[in-house]
Amino acid sequence: MAATKIQKQVQVLATYKFNHTARICFTVRSSNGSDKYNTCFQGNGHESCGCPSKGGCYHRDQLRPVAQAFLESLKVAQRSNAPLNQRNSGFSLMR
Ligand SMILES: [Zn+2]
Repeated sequence: MAATKIQKQVQVLATYKFNHTARICFTVRSSNGSDKYNTCFQGNGHESCGCPSKGGCYHRDQLRPVAQAFLESLKVAQRSNAPLNQRNSGFSLMR
């Protein structure tokens, strides 16, 4: 724990949000730049990542706050029954 960690920055290539199943997935570029991994989080706390480091990795560490914010927003939306797309209505009205 005391060892200095090299700060790696996760490069997210794509984000997939599943509103109905409370699940969010990211396609991330690996640190060597040539591979792609899928990092997924679910509302029940399940996490997975396709990278070789099992049992925890910087992909999950850095994306977890983003995933949790999304999963929390789903819960809030369900609780308050507010439509999720309401905040984007200003943009979707442009024709
Ligand atoms: Zn990973």
